[in-house]
Amino acid sequence: MNKLIIVSNRLPITLNTSSGKLKVESSVGGLATGISSLKVKTEKIWIGWPGMDFTKSKKIEIEELNNILNKQNLYPVFLSNKEIDDYYHGFANETIWPLFHYFAQYAIYEKEFWQRYKEVNEKFCEEVLKIAKPDDVIWVHDYHLMLLPKLIRDRMPDIQIGFFLHIPFPSSEIFRLLPWCKEIIEGLLGSDLIGFHTFDYVRHFGESVRRILGIDHHLGQFNVDKRPVKTEIFPMGIDYKKYSKAPGKKIVKEKIKNIKKRIGGEYIYILSIDRLDYTKGIIQRLEAFKLFLEKYPEYINKVLFFLIVVPSRTEVSHYKQLKDQIDNLVGNINSKYGNLSWEPIRYLYRSFDFDDLISLYSMADVLFITPIRDGMNLVAKEYVASKTDGNGVLILGEMAGTAKELGEAIIINPNDSEQTSDAIKTAIEMPREEKILRMAAMQNRLERYDLKRWATDFIERLEQVKDLREKMQSIEISENTMKILSKQYKNCKNCLFLLDYDGSLVDFDKNPKNVKPDKELSDILKRITKNPKNEVVIISGRDKETLEDWLGNLTDGLSGEHGIWIKDNGEWKTQENLSIEWKVDIRPILELFVDRTPGSFIEEKNYSLAWHYRKVDPALSAVRVGELKDALSHITVNLEVGVLEGNKVIEIKYSAINKGKAALNWLYKKEWDLIIAIGDDWTDEDIFEVLPDDSYTIKIGHGVSKAKYRLPNVQSARDFLAKLAKIKK
Ligand code: UDP
Repeated sequence: MNKLIIVSNRLPITLNTSSGKLKVESSVGGLATGISSLKVKTEKIWIGWPGMDFTKSKKIEIEELNNILNKQNLYPVFLSNKEIDDYYHGFANETIWPLFHYFAQYAIYEKEFWQRYKEVNEKFCEEVLKIAKPDDVIWVHDYHLMLLPKLIRDRMPDIQIGFFLHIPFPSSEIFRLLPWCKEIIEGLLGSDLIGFHTFDYVRHFGESVRRILGIDHHLGQFNVDKRPVKTEIFPMGIDYKKYSKAPGKKIVKEKIKNIKKRIGGEYIYILSIDRLDYTKGIIQRLEAFKLFLEKYPEYINKVLFFLIVVPSRTEVSHYKQLKDQIDNLVGNINSKYGNLSWEPIRYLYRSFDFDDLISLYSMADVLFITPIRDGMNLVAKEYVASKTDGNGVLILGEMAGTAKELGEAIIINPNDSEQTSDAIKTAIEMPREEKILRMAAMQNRLERYDLKRWATDFIERLEQVKDLREKMQSIEISENTMKILSKQYKNCKNCLFLLDYDGSLVDFDKNPKNVKPDKELSDILKRITKNPKNEVVIISGRDKETLEDWLGNLTDGLSGEHGIWIKDNGEWKTQENLSIEWKVDIRPILELFVDRTPGSFIEEKNYSLAWHYRKVDPALSAVRVGELKDALSHITVNLEVGVLEGNKVIEIKYSAINKGKAALNWLYKKEWDLIIAIGDDWTDEDIFEVLPDDSYTIKIGHGVSKAKYRLPNVQSARDFLAKLAKIKK
């Protein structure tokens, strides 16, 4: 890595012009702390919007700002107020934000916003291109810049790009409501690595890619334009040490004393802190608190609920309405349950600095966080970290990303006011020992996976994808390689050939009527098989009867139905006890698709079912394939069978058995001093994967592969084998 370039909507600074002079103050948010804790030896550069409109400023002012910022390795992207209105307040906050948080009814689909979003992403791209060199690493952040990875990729195809989404990625059903969902997905897939907070978000993204672009993934890895794109979980942590040390600070202790003095009297403190946002479930939380007071009047005069709401996006109507609703509800509860000396809710509509927050966390017996949706929720983590004495309880809504990590919290459904009101009682009455145990378990986890680890893990994984990409870019067999291989072949004593059939040795697309071995292929196979030092095996998806009929006399071994059947030493065998009961459920689905898709047909093999669509109109098959995979993925989820996509065929078969497993049968049979494997589609990748590194693994055609080498087509594969067949000895 040469340098690390961070790109986010905002630079980690606040500009202050109140004194008439421009002042730049650094603002240390979570991301900035994470990045600064990264122990990479390289230079770190940050690109983002400085927070003000400088587009009408004098050249000299811009130069001055650039000078100040560049000295701190910060590079501004200058955006006008109009651009910020449409791209940031508009598309990012009024389209993506509500939609990705499942508030689809609030999302605005405005062409003008979208246009500006594209333009601003392009502006960011221009800035990146001014600075980036091919061996730099670029890390793009969040929903404001989802088109940026592809924009950069198009101009710098080999550069490493990571993307992290700090908000949820919604279910594909919601995501597809976005008229520009395809462009967003394509934009993100420009990355090498896409990080999310939770597994659900990874899963939703994968489903969206499959439905919208028809690209499947294998263990979170997509293959896009000959590149691997990885999707993984990196739950964002906090600077644990900072929060766990802070309650011991003198100033914090003083602050707590002062707050308590002003309140007068001892209470059980319940605390909640959120930005003003409809995703945070503030209304539901207040309703649950009201119910708590109603159901458990013994706590009247005893609890005090600090409701902290930080002003946010106040220019948006939904936020204004929410503010009014909160004001009304708080007034309503306080007037209904309060008395001359006590009010149940202390409502503060403002933001607090770090020491104030720590004082509130320290005082709070219960932290009450109940979002309807929240990408992560750092307040919950900060509270846990700062409760060093263990004497606190966290009530957490299950829709917060944090809930996946903090299972020892009291987890509630934010819409269930009964359950939530009872959770308050449980939290208050929880025995001290239990509180300490729960807190300790959560603290251990947060300490281990802190902010530094989050950032470090992401960058390390990104570097690994680079290695993977290099490995997967198989190269054409050069004359020199052929020379070396020929020599090796001539001198070897035991050579194993593992060959795929369709697409590797015969070309269905060229000659659909005759895919039986023709004379040329028969001669080649015969010659190689005749040589006693060779063992020639065809590993195919075809059924065993066909293989026996066509290739029984031309080879030493055969494997059919993607490894289910194996013919070795002249005898066919299969794994015993393979059930075929699942066929009863799957066959009717395939039949339905045959009825609806002219030209398609079902092939029934002993242990698998295949739906062929080679003759189907391509436009129709593109739609049907997606639909069928969808239908099958749901029904096969609890079965031992998997859905396999081959060349113009979808096959349902045992997932525990594959061509790689079949290859092992021959791999362990002897000490081979040369292994040659040829395959064309991704079922053959399982063979390439199990073979030793020094094997000659050859992919036919284009596409990403684990194979070391590549040949362009079936004819070149035949020529390759023919050349070896001619070598004597
Ligand atoms: N925060 C703050 N002052 C406040 C309230 C909150 O500095 O008055 C900080 C808080 O410490 C946390 C962040 O704002 O780090 C809020 O992050 P969270 O993930 O909880 O919610 P978001 O606002 O990102 O949706």
